[in-house]
Amino acid sequence: MNYNQLFIGNYGDRELCLEKGQGVYVQDTQGKRYLDFGSGIAVNSLGYSHPVLVDAIKRQADKIWHTSNLYLNQPSSELAHELTSRTFADKVFFCNSGLEANEAALKLARKRGNDINPQKNSIVCFTGAFHGRSLFTLSLGGKEAHRQPYAPLPDNITRVAFNDCDALQKAMNDDVCAIIIEPIQGEGGVNPASPELIKLARSLSQKHNALLIFDEIQCGMGRAGSLFNYMGYDGVTPDLMTCAKGLGGGFPIGCLLATAEAAESFSAGNHGSTFGGSALGCTVACEVIRIVDDAKFLNNVQQLGKLLQEQLQLINKEFNCFSEIRGKGLLWGGQLSDKYEGAKLLAECRSQGLLLLLAGNADVLRFAPPLIISESQLMDGLELLRDALQNHSA
Ligand SMILES: *Cc1c(COP(=O)(O)O)cnc(C)c1O
Repeated sequence: MNYNQLFIGNYGDRELCLEKGQGVYVQDTQGKRYLDFGSGIAVNSLGYSHPVLVDAIKRQADKIWHTSNLYLNQPSSELAHELTSRTFADKVFFCNSGLEANEAALKLARKRGNDINPQKNSIVCFTGAFHGRSLFTLSLGGKEAHRQPYAPLPDNITRVAFNDCDALQKAMNDDVCAIIIEPIQGEGGVNPASPELIKLARSLSQKHNALLIFDEIQCGMGRAGSLFNYMGYDGVTPDLMTCAKGLGGGFPIGCLLATAEAAESFSAGNHGSTFGGSALGCTVACEVIRIVDDAKFLNNVQQLGKLLQEQLQLINKEFNCFSEIRGKGLLWGGQLSDKYEGAKLLAECRSQGLLLLLAGNADVLRFAPPLIISESQLMDGLELLRDALQNHSA
């Protein structure tokens, strides 16, 4: 039976059914093994079946799973402490996914704006952005195809060309309640924001009393070689930051981090989530952040990132497959040159035993391997990519 026919068609037909994983490898139901350079879309940062995470979730499973937010639970209190003590943030809100974290950030920013003045509700976002698939978050996304079918969309959203400082300057006024930026755009094609854009967004949001929101859902939690990317811009800190994907190492959890001042706009009853901050999810996330926020671990991600960049450049010399190679840490994108077709190349990689991702308009090969990958595993995967490129051209 083709089980795909039981699913609503929004994912298209899936070819592989994955059964288990270990480290950087997954195995499908046919028994074929794959090296995973996609990490379940930058989620399984510590690979599959990490013994510390498996052990932690088993221990918590025997105690309590879910409490609702009518009560505190120990793992969520502990995670709140882990996150605030390691970042700019004073306060957290827990949810279950990336879009929920952004939805919370945007609602908070709108409420704060409305509290100041009823005109202060416009949100500045960028071309190429991706912030999730809810009606509000997709309205801020760069892809027309994600937005157009769902009209009418939330109002008063201004889209500015990414990394265009002049355009950002022009878009700003006192009616803006928030600017939302991915320090490295992931889905949009692995496009890093320029330090100039980040610094300008910080100074303009201060000038116009708007909140600066960093969406670090994909590029944060060690993915780009620092715990969060904001840490690399000479002291620039956001007012709000969202995090999900890698945070739970594969368990669904998201969070909104806030300064004490920004957080004041939400009081009891203003927002909520039934499942947010579950004891199971928070238990796992506590272990993930303790493993990732370690100088040796993060330094290794940076070193592996340099190796990956060099190797992609060498591959490009051989195959002339990329017009640009962009990224940081273990998040890289290769803009495919015209003769390579993303979907075809991905299928070729799969048959070689390598799982990869696309980004942009399916014209960027996206590399987001588990952060625990070894040098030799990284080299093995790139060898499989060479074979795939060879076959694609043949
Ligand atoms: C994946 C992603 C989201 C949405 O996260 P979901 O968990 O799919 O809702 C939002 N922002 C960025 C930058 C992402 O990469």
